[in-house]
Amino acid sequence: GNNNFQVMYNGAMKLGYKHCSTGRMAINSRARAGRAQCMQLGFCFQGCKMGAKWSTLYTEIPAAEATGKLELRTQAHAVRIEHDAKGRASAVVYADAKGQLHRQKGRIIAIAGNAIETPRLLLNSSSTLFPHGLANGSGMVGKHYMRHTTGSVFAEFSDPVHFYRGTIMAGLISDEVHFNPDRGFVGGYEMETISLGPSFMAAFFKPGAWGKDFTRVMDNYTHLAGMWLVGEDMPRESNRITLSDNTKDRFGIPVANVHYDDHPNDIAMREHAFKQGSAVYEAVGALKTHRVPPYPSTHNMGTCRMSLKEADGVCNKHGQC
Ligand code: SF4
Repeated sequence: GNNNFQVMYNGAMKLGYKHCSTGRMAINSRARAGRAQCMQLGFCFQGCKMGAKWSTLYTEIPAAEATGKLELRTQAHAVRIEHDAKGRASAVVYADAKGQLHRQKGRIIAIAGNAIETPRLLLNSSSTLFPHGLANGSGMVGKHYMRHTTGSVFAEFSDPVHFYRGTIMAGLISDEVHFNPDRGFVGGYEMETISLGPSFMAAFFKPGAWGKDFTRVMDNYTHLAGMWLVGEDMPRESNRITLSDNTKDRFGIPVANVHYDDHPNDIAMREHAFKQGSAVYEAVGALKTHRVPPYPSTHNMGTCRMSLKEADGVCNKHGQC
């Protein structure tokens, strides 16, 4: 655990939390599989200069290519999935880098476009047989978009912490994960260490901030500790991806509209997490703690949910539809 973790760990213990650890990370602690070990350089969000941090881009893909059984067509954009007369998916039409359309037939088609582009592709693949889009007999494609309830707490200390050294997510507190509606919300959350590079910090520490209070925090960059709060958000039908009526991409395909509202449960959870996160740092002598709103990026989830019943889901427990 790096310094940022030590500060969080000591605060957690003082507060009476029992479950605080460096957790499990897909990062080499020693050289392995042709990749170096973590050198604790920090700023991992920029990409790992050592190659210690796992990434599909340089781990699985080169290994899969080496088998000779994987062909990767880069800069290809799927625009439509086609189906046969029985309604079974049969081909993907995609545009190459020059915008030229190609048709790739397939017996099985797997879509891995994340929670926004996956429903967009299904909805844009409507046909006479499936006027509301593919796999959308239930009308659930695009619905129940989720992104985690988040926020951060940063704390100023009199001594240097150098929170940017070492892995960013260097450990977590999981005492608040359990289900306990007595706290005023259902579901739970974790507190994980986080550090931001100076430019990210300046932009999102307090969006729009200006003046002495703000510059003092930036001047104290080396004396900060930080944690990210991440909890379960509510799967709501009204939080959803739809197709835009008037905006199209360069291939003439409607882009996705994203709609998301916080549920009162999310707000209550965030409030609780802010309070507990601040208490962790106050327990080890923080001079000041700061509540930082969610960053403008999310863990995209949902939108093609699994269900035992066809009527209220998009795919079965194996992800098939
Ligand atoms: S600290 Fe992060 S970026 Fe640096 S070597 Fe370790 S995993 Fe890679």
